[in-house]
Amino acid sequence: MTQPLVVFDNVVKHFGSYHAVERMNLEIYKGEFVAIMGSSGCGKTTTLRMLAGLDKPSEGEIRLNGERINDLYSWERETPLVWQNLALFPFLNVVENVEFGLRMRGMAKAERRKKSLQWLERLGLEEFAMRDISLLSGGQRQRVALARSLVTEPSILLLDEPLSALDAHLSVRMQGVLTGLQKDLGITFVYVTHSQSEAFAMADRVVIMSRGRVEQIGSPKEVFLEPHNRFVAEFIGGKNILCGTVIGFDDRGLVRVGSEHGEFLARRPEGKSTTPGERVTVCLSAEHIDLTEHPRQRNRLTCTVVGEEFIGSMVNIYLDAGDGLELQVQKPHADYNRLGLRNGQKIVAEWDGACALILRGD
Ligand code: ATP
Repeated sequence: MTQPLVVFDNVVKHFGSYHAVERMNLEIYKGEFVAIMGSSGCGKTTTLRMLAGLDKPSEGEIRLNGERINDLYSWERETPLVWQNLALFPFLNVVENVEFGLRMRGMAKAERRKKSLQWLERLGLEEFAMRDISLLSGGQRQRVALARSLVTEPSILLLDEPLSALDAHLSVRMQGVLTGLQKDLGITFVYVTHSQSEAFAMADRVVIMSRGRVEQIGSPKEVFLEPHNRFVAEFIGGKNILCGTVIGFDDRGLVRVGSEHGEFLARRPEGKSTTPGERVTVCLSAEHIDLTEHPRQRNRLTCTVVGEEFIGSMVNIYLDAGDGLELQVQKPHADYNRLGLRNGQKIVAEWDGACALILRGD
């Protein structure tokens, strides 16, 4: 089995009595693109800063290539960080900014200039080499910051919200630049973001954090299809949460769940056992609910339409299922138009029990 490039081994970070990161265990492999996501203040940047050598773990060990790096300063480890604000030097022009790291390493002027120009060319910036940083657009500055970090040919690059200052169109284009570079160079990216669409579009694996803890690590597909707990299900959005008690099993092996909204069927995630009497939390994706006046499924709830929201090619439909339960349903425009819904209308929401997933944790 290949050795991980980076290991967080029971890493804790306190700021005084405040626990910003709690017992983090994470392995990152060479050439992987790992995105760290979570709500504001959950410890994403602190995790990245510890890897960069800008904060020191309070407990546990961080290893890079098998070596403990807890006590190394940032300049003693090869873990450059690209910031949201880019931190380019305004008093240096583009190529001088890119050269900076090589200059600090004592590389001769002609050699470092040649290398820096090659990187500017690679990122489509050669014509701006002599330009002032202040005269560049946001996207161009972003690429200069990348060139400045990549010119030293690190095995890993840390990125903290690098696209958050760009408009949506440019951000999508830069996503392509980043993933292209990452795959071409075989470099490991550890990428902190608020944006689920960025993380899911680019990362091989995502790490979802909440209040200093890792809630789930997996591929975007795994996390989307099988969130481990309620936090992750709600964080990634488009999920309905139903609670109930296990009352038995049907002949397909689905779990019969009794709730105040009636009995419904749900599926267990692989490896999870359930016993009658156990309280369970069930997650049901908004796109797995059908709306009909002629229900066929055993899992059904009569609801009242309370609102809708247009999001690109899809429509979110909000339903009141009574007793404080609100459901979100997602449909393509054509289906939504066919349904001809209006607020206040009664409609039956139904779903296949195999699509309702019992969560591993609460
Ligand atoms: P955001 O998405 O808002 O940037 P984050 O997930 O990156 O948030 P961190 O910056 O890692 O969060 O901060 C985690 C927690 O630790 C926050 O509550 C923050 O206020 C606290 N924190 C971070 N740095 C310090 C510090 N130097 N001193 C005290 N508390 C800190």
